Amino acid sequence: MDRQTAQQQIEELRAQVRYHSDRYYNQDSPEIEDYEYDRLLRRLEELEDQFPDLRTADSPTVRVGGAASSLFTPVVHTVPMESLRDAFSMEELYEFDRKVRAVVPHPVYSVEPKIDGLSVSIEYRNGVFVRGSTRGDGQTGEDVTENLRTIATIPARLNTPVPYLEARGEVYMSHASFQALVEAQELAGEQPAKNPRNAAAGALRQKKAAVTARRKLDIFCFNLQQAQGISFASHIASLDGMRDLGLTVLPFYTRCDSIQQAVEAVEAIGARRGELAFDIDGAVIKLDDLALREQLGSTAKFPRWAIAYKYPPEVKETVLLDVEVQVGRTGVLTPTAVFEPVRLAGTTVARATLHNEDFIAEKDLHIGDTVLVRKAGEIIPEVIGVAARKPGAMPYRMPGVCPSCGQPVMHVEDEAALRCVNPECPAQLERNLIHFASRDAMDIEGLGPAVVVQLTAGGLVQKPSDIYRLRAEQIAAIDRMGDQSAANLIGAIEKSKQNELWRLLFGLGIRHVGEKAAKLLEAAFADLDALMSAGRDELLAIDGFGAIMADSVLAFFAQPGTRELVEELRALGLNFTSARRPAGGALAGKTVVLTGTLPTLKRDQATAMIEAAGGKASSSVSKKTDYVLAGEAAGSKLEKANALGVPVIDEAAFLAMLGQTKTEGEA
Ligand code: NAD
Repeated sequence: MDRQTAQQQIEELRAQVRYHSDRYYNQDSPEIEDYEYDRLLRRLEELEDQFPDLRTADSPTVRVGGAASSLFTPVVHTVPMESLRDAFSMEELYEFDRKVRAVVPHPVYSVEPKIDGLSVSIEYRNGVFVRGSTRGDGQTGEDVTENLRTIATIPARLNTPVPYLEARGEVYMSHASFQALVEAQELAGEQPAKNPRNAAAGALRQKKAAVTARRKLDIFCFNLQQAQGISFASHIASLDGMRDLGLTVLPFYTRCDSIQQAVEAVEAIGARRGELAFDIDGAVIKLDDLALREQLGSTAKFPRWAIAYKYPPEVKETVLLDVEVQVGRTGVLTPTAVFEPVRLAGTTVARATLHNEDFIAEKDLHIGDTVLVRKAGEIIPEVIGVAARKPGAMPYRMPGVCPSCGQPVMHVEDEAALRCVNPECPAQLERNLIHFASRDAMDIEGLGPAVVVQLTAGGLVQKPSDIYRLRAEQIAAIDRMGDQSAANLIGAIEKSKQNELWRLLFGLGIRHVGEKAAKLLEAAFADLDALMSAGRDELLAIDGFGAIMADSVLAFFAQPGTRELVEELRALGLNFTSARRPAGGALAGKTVVLTGTLPTLKRDQATAMIEAAGGKASSSVSKKTDYVLAGEAAGSKLEKANALGVPVIDEAAFLAMLGQTKTEGEA
């Protein structure tokens, strides 16, 4: 290749690598598979090796990928957080060993799993966790201390108060937490996380620690960066030492006296990969002796004393037999690939979601193609591309009509999804009913999907109100339902009439109104009638309610079918009254923020009084706040209230509003 062509290719590759690094490290939303990214970087490295004068100081081959986001306070790493040189063949591991032995004649190695998460530094002073940060570009990371505090495997205190310690670890999401997250996201109708690494990165680089906490992250510490008051001669001793201090270190690591043993250990870890409860993307071989590491040193990006072997992703070939299309609750058509069953990461899989029309077009899928499948996070099967085209096969096209009702389907707004917009579509009705009865909505025990499907197929139930008209003998007549189960179900249906109002609101399946929004609606209105007669402004005044949600609520209740259904449900005796909201309370519909110390009322007393008067106690001041109740030493919230022109009241004014007065000293 001539120099000019090489230069062109190098520039193109750099642009691609930079683009994908940004998606991966900074936006936590990669577009290509890791091995595809690794291939691009490899190719760039080869060209730069061939034409060393074309290598620049800012090439992605010499710099660590991330950048610290301005959302967080920067943390300068006193010990740089380096990356690792990758190896994709065993030969490269022997080559690494040869280079090490040129400096260290008889190396001892540690071999350990390479956890697929994101790198953090955690610091302890006098045994107390004081700061944690992301890697960023290796020199400067992001302060994520509060988020890291929510991770149960990061102790707040060490067992011994060593003066100072900085450990490096990998924050990851276990398969179990990932599964729970994906299920919750699917239930809420959200786009499920792609894999545990992205989910972990997204959860950690969050402004709200409460969100991080819900995602249930974990850590494995894999290096002692620096310490005062303790020292170790070897890496393995430092891992053992950190464990004794109470840190969670890598779950296994092996001491190897030769590169042959190390290669065997790498293979052994690869063989165990499918059984682990977390993702790994390789194994790391490290020189164990810490003093000898110093002799080998580092390049700008990698230490010379370690190498990461990347396992090839477990990808299998199989034949795409069919694409099935399902119609969801909101009418969205979801295509699912059906393929010849294959074993992947410990289970047999035969189906994988194809997301939408764009995904199918992008992968260029034809029925009969040999496709490549793998499991993301060892859990979710996915089709990653076509390995071989079946001669004469035609590209798969999504149906132009709904597979359930036969009405034309369309793209709504700018969505990638195709939707059936027929409100009478039986598939949608069925899914709506399944949702209505589900645990998170009306919680009707015994009315699961299998029973709903039979009830709708038999024509017994077509809308939620029909559920409340069912008779025990009708239920007992369906498959696998005896008299006892029928009686139990009738009992559960009856009980659900008394549910809190938000359950009904959520169960009705108003677009963009999830469980949380349904609770906000219940909190804002005295009853369903008040909600139905509310105008756009009233809905927009609810803290946490945006225009899309408000418009969706208005559109839902404007449908004649909805009004009819509501009247039927009323006649059947369902609860329409808000549980927490006494109608006409002194603070009905008002949002009050409390700040500072009040002269007589404790914070929880004041909160309870606001709620009892029909108001909502909120923790942050915004334009939607009606009053700020301020006491002694009120700080930034008071300033914000003044800046926004929100009325500020003291305890006396607050009590007067509630028609109460209080004497000093009263509890
Ligand atoms: P790396 O992931 O190859 O290796 C370094 C990292 O490994 C360290 O930061 C550390 O956090 C981690 N690690 C886990 N266990 C370890 C252990 N036992 N010992 C030492 N380190 C351990 O390097 P990198 O520069 O962080 O990232 C490259 C990775 O990111 C590659 O896997 C690459 O495919 C992926 N990537 C993908 C895309 C994409 O678009 N798909 C883009 C950029 C990067």
